[in-house]
Amino acid sequence: MPWIAGIQRDQVNWGPTVDADKCVSCGMCMNCGKKVFEWVEGKPKVVRHYDCVVGCTTCGNLCLGNAISFPDLQELRRLFKERGVWSAVKKALIAEGKLPAE
Ligand code: SF4
Ligand code: SF4
Repeated sequence: MPWIAGIQRDQVNWGPTVDADKCVSCGMCMNCGKKVFEWVEGKPKVVRHYDCVVGCTTCGNLCLGNAISFPDLQELRRLFKERGVWSAVKKALIAEGKLPAE
């Protein structure tokens, strides 16, 4: 699946991991708009890891049991730097008229 700046989404290590021992089954993570989780036997299961929005941590921030973790954000920032993601996104946003041309 193409993602951005010529990078395939499955080359980007980003998505939630649930610690089942900490999970208190509050269900909040099921509110994810990308449907990354499914409810299996009373707990959330990550079923669409690569549909997680790169850089998003909302479910982890709101998790009652503090049970959701993510890969190292600095690794993600390193990838953005190495692959020119910031400048590619800026160019795309200018082309879409969401940012003024420089
Ligand atoms: S981090 Fe965001 S997009 Fe990813 S699973 Fe959680 S709420 Fe959904
Ligand atoms: S938000 Fe956290 S505690 Fe609640 S169901 Fe999801 S993983 Fe479990």
